[in-house]
Amino acid sequence: MLDVDFLIENGKIYTMDTNDTWYETGSIAINNGHIVAIGPSHVIKKQYIAKEKINADGKYIFPGLINTHTHLFQTVLKGFAYDLHLHDWLNTVIRPYIPHLDAEVCYLAALAGCIEALHSGATAILDYMYAHPQPNLSDVILQAFDELGIRGFLARGFSEKLYGTNKQMGMVEEREDFLADTLRLHFKYSNRIWLAPTAIWNMTDTGLRTVCDFAREHQIPITMHLNETKLDDTFCREQYNKTALAYLEEIGLLNQYFLAVHCVHIDARGATTLKRNNVKISYNPVSNMILGSGAMPVAIFQKQQLNLSLGTDGAASNDSLNMLETMKIAALLPKVISHDPTVISARDIMRMATIDGARALGLEKEIGSLEAGKKADLIIYNPLKPQSFPMHDPLATLVYTSNPTNIDTVIIDGKVVMTGNRIVTIDEERVLEKARIVARRFVKKIY
Ligand SMILES: [Zn+2]
Repeated sequence: MLDVDFLIENGKIYTMDTNDTWYETGSIAINNGHIVAIGPSHVIKKQYIAKEKINADGKYIFPGLINTHTHLFQTVLKGFAYDLHLHDWLNTVIRPYIPHLDAEVCYLAALAGCIEALHSGATAILDYMYAHPQPNLSDVILQAFDELGIRGFLARGFSEKLYGTNKQMGMVEEREDFLADTLRLHFKYSNRIWLAPTAIWNMTDTGLRTVCDFAREHQIPITMHLNETKLDDTFCREQYNKTALAYLEEIGLLNQYFLAVHCVHIDARGATTLKRNNVKISYNPVSNMILGSGAMPVAIFQKQQLNLSLGTDGAASNDSLNMLETMKIAALLPKVISHDPTVISARDIMRMATIDGARALGLEKEIGSLEAGKKADLIIYNPLKPQSFPMHDPLATLVYTSNPTNIDTVIIDGKVVMTGNRIVTIDEERVLEKARIVARRFVKKIY
């Protein structure tokens, strides 16, 4: 018998491995943050002992959900303005506030946002931090990740200019300052840091090429908003006499270490360009619907077997960080636009939210499925809630009829972060109350 840190026993386990293995009565042995063994309970119990045990009898165990795109600072701007196009929304809801952001606001916004994310089953999150009115605001977001115990990554945003205005808005930076701060973060936080030029129309040709060279030199992945609206192509045709994708391919930005966010206005030809370069995609359907940006062509992308992951986008254009809601809408939207309910399945969505999300982050060998040797990032789902009864098909129930009350336990890196629907790493009520007060004070700076 081998001693391990703890055992999760007698749950119905959906591993999301390549064979879609599931166990009707399964157990997981966890040691040093990793899954040591997973299998039928009667087998695991004969091989492993642990002082600490979690009885998952009657519950379901899934890999933790992975959110590949958000802007946590926007949590304090949630529910603030509606019915605006992207650029009107940017200019009225987002940009005027950014100069007033400080470390306290960013820190509490990140904590509050991650609390909501955890309750919806998210165990990993890639934050895209493009607001820099003060130095080191990225650091407080990483601090919030660590205090909560969520697996957090930070994409260091960069704008050389702001399309449509000459103002700086706490976003525009000198190239040297951006590169120096990214390098500082890279040395401090290692592979948790990404590069994030905000959009083609906020960058110069030299600036984007410099980011590409820097990424290659330091082996840092890049993520960027791409073809969220038609402006990317219009801008690139005017500036470079070609489409956005043709331009990005030419400068070497399209590759397997690039995560493109949105990709709404891309046709079949564009999809082949993405596939040819093995680009990963973050699909953000709720934000695309709220801003009226359009619907990502999921069917075309699936035909090309592109790696699709799921993002909520920032809470100011969602207005939530609820991954369960995002999963449902990610399934419904392609069915509506294609008039075809078979275009996407609950299983497809679950893979986007787990193993394909891990692949988008370059972490498919470490997280995204429940397999021996991988990190122990998982959720324990309580089906005995009105919305999820009677759970004939667990994946369909998870995607179509779940809400955060179903997420009983969240384990990240082998540590219990939430149990009995309560986060154990911080005092949730205290944080949310502080965040509420700070959010009120923050928006009053403008209104
Ligand atoms: Zn975004």
